[in-house]
Amino acid sequence: MTGMQERTAESAAVPDAVNNYVNGQWTKSSGGEEQAVVDPATSEELASLTFTPESEVDHVVSCATEAFEEWRRTPAVDRSQYLFGLKGELEDRSEEIAQALSREHGKTVGEARGEIRRGIENVEVAAGVPNMLREESGIVEDVASGIDESAIRQPLGVFAAVIPFNFPAMIPLWFLPYAVATGNTFVLKPSERVPLSSQLIFEAVDAVGFPDGVVNLINGGEETVNALLKHEDIEGISFVGSSGVARHVYETAAKSGKRVQAQGGAKNYAVVTESADLDRTVPNVLGSVYGNAGQRCLANDVVIGVGDVYDDLRDRLTAGAEDLTVGIGLDEDTDVGPVITPESRQRISDLVDDAVEDGAELVLDGRDFEHPDYPEGNFIGPILLEGVTSDMTISQEEIFGPVLCLASVDDLDEAIEMVNGTQYGNASSIYTERGGEARQYRHEVDAGNIGVNVGVCAPMGFFHFGGRKESFFGDLHAQGEDAINFYTEKTIEIERWFS
Ligand code: NAD
Repeated sequence: MTGMQERTAESAAVPDAVNNYVNGQWTKSSGGEEQAVVDPATSEELASLTFTPESEVDHVVSCATEAFEEWRRTPAVDRSQYLFGLKGELEDRSEEIAQALSREHGKTVGEARGEIRRGIENVEVAAGVPNMLREESGIVEDVASGIDESAIRQPLGVFAAVIPFNFPAMIPLWFLPYAVATGNTFVLKPSERVPLSSQLIFEAVDAVGFPDGVVNLINGGEETVNALLKHEDIEGISFVGSSGVARHVYETAAKSGKRVQAQGGAKNYAVVTESADLDRTVPNVLGSVYGNAGQRCLANDVVIGVGDVYDDLRDRLTAGAEDLTVGIGLDEDTDVGPVITPESRQRISDLVDDAVEDGAELVLDGRDFEHPDYPEGNFIGPILLEGVTSDMTISQEEIFGPVLCLASVDDLDEAIEMVNGTQYGNASSIYTERGGEARQYRHEVDAGNIGVNVGVCAPMGFFHFGGRKESFFGDLHAQGEDAINFYTEKTIEIERWFS
């Protein structure tokens, strides 16, 4: 399963320091606790991160608060020029970010390039903010005699975003561009496991020359996040991560009157019907399940074959999974990189053991995969289980690893019942060539993102991105028009003139 090693795991440069970026300056946190940033393919320490204590959170929020008054008065068209600048700086650095991202996270460099592209798309959409603000502000004349009425959008103040490990370059850009385009100031807190991509994104921010305090970066973990959640000068929090923490963020921040959008975990099912085009379906399903080593909130991990399609589907998926190349992310031939930590590898392995104990059959077991050059890496080869049923833990819990669970049902109704039987509602896919089946699926499946013959249904920047049930806490989602609504307050102005 190992591809030829054209590149070594060490061949891409990464930032060797993790600093905060506060008020337009790179600063080292004076906090005590440190944590190593570790390459998941080699276990090599790449850098060391200092957790930002509450007192320094106070300082960054006060800088962002101070910057707000002038930034909100900066015309929206001028604010967008900074975003056009950011787009250019990110594009110039995109290969450098992709290589560093691949090293700190483990994903393939192709996946890293795609991730950065999706992030830049959000900068492009947010750069169009003057137009998005304009649409709300149309005046209605003569709502009563000689009285005109309009609604205008205004920014609120300081917003913060807390980010997970699995998309360290894209997810900051779900929030940062919209927050500042609408006239707010912003604080980013990346995942402490993968802070290096954000260092490079903020080098781009620094090169653009945003006014001091408008865009800030702080590193840290739980204490840093909790200080943000409770800070009285923060108007709103965006969170992406696991559901337990998302709920905590939602409840804590809402208690202090903040706006909150908290995206949680996922358990995504795909259904393959008898009408599906298997030649096209199988590679698409494999990409969804095993891409990013399964560490994607939109990854399908349970695949249900309906009726007679099952045997052929299982044979083709098994053959396709066996063909995947496991290796380091920087090798262009790699399909499946390592998972993020040894603990994550162990958790995935335990879930597979539980599934077997619950009666699933282990068709492919990649847990014994060892990379000849990187024996310390957190590699797992493709795992494939069959005979998975709704009552098993593995069909309910998010796996976040390269594991495909196969289930077989008699009809689409039964499949939809299984799909809806989880606590999550992030994404789901149907593979079919029948419009009626697709329509029923879209109508009846309780998920925020539905793919029809699409295994990773990630919306473009001009659409909102969000799940349902335990996958989302809040009402306004990330991206697109929802982002504009989240970051602005609407004020009604009713006016008349006496002379
Ligand atoms: P995580 O919840 O462990 O961490 C996310 C962030 O929360 C990190 O920045 C971390 O520092 C902070 N954090 C962790 N524990 C905390 C606590 N007790 N109090 C306050 N802050 C805390 O998530 P992760 O492992 O980094 O990311 C994987 C998860 O993210 C998966 O569940 C995945 O489905 C989810 N995710 C969801 C989406 C989505 O759009 N719904 C997108 C990407 C990832």
